[in-house]
Amino acid sequence: MTRQMFISESALKSLAEELVKAGTRLVGPARERNGDLVYREASDLGEIELGGDPPTRSLKEFFLPPTEVLLTYRQKQGDVEVTPAPHVFAPLVVIGARPCDAAAVAAVDKVMDWDYHDELWFGRRLATTIVSVACGGGDASCFCTAVGLAPDSAKGSDVLLVPVEGGFHAEILTEKGEALVKAHAARFTEGGKAEAAKAYRDAARGKVQANLSADPAKIRAFLEAGFDHPIWKGIALRCHGCGACAFVCPTCHCFDIVDEPDSIERGTRRRNWDTCQAAKFTLHGSGHNPRNEQNCRIRQRMMHKFAIYPARFGEILCTGCGRCIRVCPGGMDLLETLDKLGRLPAGAPAEAKRGAP
Ligand code: SF4
Ligand code: SF4
Repeated sequence: MTRQMFISESALKSLAEELVKAGTRLVGPARERNGDLVYREASDLGEIELGGDPPTRSLKEFFLPPTEVLLTYRQKQGDVEVTPAPHVFAPLVVIGARPCDAAAVAAVDKVMDWDYHDELWFGRRLATTIVSVACGGGDASCFCTAVGLAPDSAKGSDVLLVPVEGGFHAEILTEKGEALVKAHAARFTEGGKAEAAKAYRDAARGKVQANLSADPAKIRAFLEAGFDHPIWKGIALRCHGCGACAFVCPTCHCFDIVDEPDSIERGTRRRNWDTCQAAKFTLHGSGHNPRNEQNCRIRQRMMHKFAIYPARFGEILCTGCGRCIRVCPGGMDLLETLDKLGRLPAGAPAEAKRGAP
């Protein structure tokens, strides 16, 4: 059973000060010099925006950085000495995570522990405690309620805070959350303010629900039968293949692995973010590219998020954060696309031919 507590604004500030003083990295949505709101390390809770706009970039880069070293190698007397990157990390507490970003991390956990246990991902997961703040309903691009989440989803969070007068109703959700409360027990009071939080939660849910009411089961049914549907050509017309949607997405997790030699004897193996929206993502050594047109790549992104991942892991690989909509230079609107797909009958039209649409 989730424990319910209350923490005042000033007590949360003190808790953050105690964390920083103890050497724990404090991260939250904070402004950069250019005005962008991003998750970044902060030295004080005053820098962190606990509500308002969704940050431009997601929380995923704290678990899967855009580029990172996997190992270094060195040739040594006819053999190769390999040194893996350390996968033990210093403690980090995120305060002010948006629930959609916390939920995304939990969704990506599944693939990171599937055919291979990703030590770097889980090393960072283990070191990180996520304190989310229920959002007030986001903006017109948000649609978390249409993918089974909500502005106050607890998924992926260790503690969920819901704004109430003078502070936050706090739900302690995991052992890591309990450990945080125990270490700062004087900052919390028992009991919570569930009644006061309800009005905030209901209003936020209602606001997001108004943006999209598509049924994910209908969308999946369409996708599973609609590989050849002509709709993909129309949708793809707006896409330049820049990949921005994938890079800001909290659930897109594809990477490429490259070896970067420093000399003939030694070098570094890195992984770098990659995206299925890039033309060369599936280019084979033979020169053949099974996704040789942008419409195939858009379809792949939709299929992966709304049909393939749900079939394999029981999770939609989208939290409805709306970032891909806000960032797209071509005006691609996922919310509009989902609305359209949700209204189409499952099954390819009779005139469609098998092959690349
Ligand atoms: S951000 Fe827009 S233009 Fe760029 S790859 Fe994504 S859908 Fe295409
Ligand atoms: S696909 Fe778009 S709306 Fe869904 S999680 Fe990714 S960025 Fe957010």
